[in-house]
Amino acid sequence: VKGKAKKAGKLAKKVDTAAVLGAGIMGGGIAYQSASKGTPIVMKDIAQPALDLGLGEASKLLAAQIKRGRSTPEKMAKVLNNITATLDYAPVKDVDLVVEAVVEHPKVKSMVLAEVEQHVADDAIITSNTSTISINLLAKALNKPERFCGMHFFNPVHKMPLVEIIRGENSSEETIATVVAYASKMGKTPIVVNDCPGFFINRVLFPYFAGFCGLLADGGDFAAIDKVMEKQFGWPMGPAYLLDVVGLDTGHHAQAVMAEGFPDRMAKDGKDAIDIMFGAERFGQKNSKGFYAYS
Ligand code: NAD
Repeated sequence: VKGKAKKAGKLAKKVDTAAVLGAGIMGGGIAYQSASKGTPIVMKDIAQPALDLGLGEASKLLAAQIKRGRSTPEKMAKVLNNITATLDYAPVKDVDLVVEAVVEHPKVKSMVLAEVEQHVADDAIITSNTSTISINLLAKALNKPERFCGMHFFNPVHKMPLVEIIRGENSSEETIATVVAYASKMGKTPIVVNDCPGFFINRVLFPYFAGFCGLLADGGDFAAIDKVMEKQFGWPMGPAYLLDVVGLDTGHHAQAVMAEGFPDRMAKDGKDAIDIMFGAERFGQKNSKGFYAYS
């Protein structure tokens, strides 16, 4: 294994600068993480309020670090200086690696991937932070699919150690090695997985959510279930709270992808707790109402 890792390390290209497309929950977090670990990053969105929100989140995280005595105003200024917020592609043209983190729609993602390929160098690596969409499908949008793979971060990016690197059927070894090295440089633990619905984590997580929904359908109380999972079982958060953090809209969409990908194991009747919450527009922390209420 050591030999293999060494060989992969040799294939990796240096990532001196990166770009993230989309300044939402994930894009803002990815920009913060890259900038604070010393890789300057361009953060591109189509809306100024989104850029402001992304930068605002980074500032909040940095201010919290100062408050805890883990950073200084000088370091904070340096990290913020490492993030270039933009509404156009001009600052993206010299980056070594791109992470696409726009909304979870195959058509929008394909359009954005095709667009960015026109603006970056021939040898720049392009990745997608998609949670559920097939990497082989997204690769079709590119002229050079060998430079593309999945780079799936988890929410909140600054806290969650894992990054799934998803190998498409055309991803080159150099692409995978470069993305693995960049994830490590960001202080994350990368794992390389093959392309399939749910990749690795969501194949484990969604059967767990299905079990949770089954308990609710049988009369279980979500807060009591969370309490047992957190206090007695020792997990950092229970399933209801986790769904509120992830977003019930995102959860609903991912559940549909899993059901389509594994009809024999993950079939749905469209009436479970995630469907009901989604139908009632209780999306979780993002709109302040999910299983719990947030002010
Ligand atoms: P979000 O809705 O918070 O942010 C999406 C951002 O993309 C918005 O700021 C929007 O303005 C921007 N955008 C839309 N079209 C664009 C374009 N053409 N060019 C540039 N920016 C554009 O979404 P999110 O929760 O950050 O999710 C982003 C991606 O990350 C999705 O693919 C999602 O599945 C994935 N993801 C989400 C989570 C999560 O817990 N939320 C976890 C892992 C992965």
